[in-house]
Amino acid sequence: MRSLFLSLAGLAAMIASAGAQWPPQPQLEQREIAQNVWTMQHPLGSSNSTFIVTDEGVFVWDADVRTADQVLAAIRRTTDKKVRYVAFSHAAGDHATGAWHFREDQPHIIGTRKQMRDLYMQEAEQFAERKASDDVRFASFRAARLAIPDIAFEGSLTLRLGGLTLQLTEEGDAHSNSDVTLYIPQKRVFLTGDLLNTEIHPGQGESANVFFSNTKNWVAVLGNIIARGLPVDTYVPGHGPVHLGRGVADIEEQRRYFLVMRDQVSKLITAGKSVSEVQEEIKLPAEFAHYRSPGRLKNYVNLFYHQLLEQGYWP
Ligand SMILES: [Zn+2]
Repeated sequence: MRSLFLSLAGLAAMIASAGAQWPPQPQLEQREIAQNVWTMQHPLGSSNSTFIVTDEGVFVWDADVRTADQVLAAIRRTTDKKVRYVAFSHAAGDHATGAWHFREDQPHIIGTRKQMRDLYMQEAEQFAERKASDDVRFASFRAARLAIPDIAFEGSLTLRLGGLTLQLTEEGDAHSNSDVTLYIPQKRVFLTGDLLNTEIHPGQGESANVFFSNTKNWVAVLGNIIARGLPVDTYVPGHGPVHLGRGVADIEEQRRYFLVMRDQVSKLITAGKSVSEVQEEIKLPAEFAHYRSPGRLKNYVNLFYHQLLEQGYWP
């Protein structure tokens, strides 16, 4: 009885702390990762969101319909400036469904043409299904609307806002079919979306059950970012904790992860192993042993096994 009471009290506290969202969402941690740059870090490894406060307004990077209400509340606590722009790292539900929460400020929503197409197509369909569903897991969708970008670009886009240079770069076809990064030179931060996940196995680039991740290009894109040698203190991951001041070592670790995985999976394929055998037998070095969500590794191995057969064991 006591434990039932405690769990109900805990649940009530979670609901109170997370606002009106049902089912209750974990409390995002608000971290100032550079002056006036705030990352809302998800405690359980779901998607992070970041906002940048300037004298001319706020720029929001990534918004999940389940948690963007917390991002808005944090913005309102932090500044009286309005949200001017929302941009997405990629068109996955956990990064690109939450712009609706900022509607009062009427921000421009920025995405690439490919992201826009995905949002109009499979993401819109999944959003509509979830909106109509009685499943409590999708209750956040009921009142919401999927906001589609009103500014679309290809390649790169530079915005000047409140004295900052916000440099959006379409890095290509890697985690998703159109991964965008955000570099803010004056803040020495670089936001990666899901090109970088920290302390968690990477996802397979899901957009409404379409799986995009192209591991070969992902490794190449990470190599491109490293090769720029940018003066960056902190690379902000799409999932996992922000490692303040760790710099490019985070990107190098992510790249190493895929190279180790390629070597492991290719050896097991050569030894005649099936996908399920590879999922059982793959051994990643101690460096990655603490990563969360082993289920994501299993899914990734399934995707990667077939990509290696299709593309060969690229160098
Ligand atoms: Zn994600």
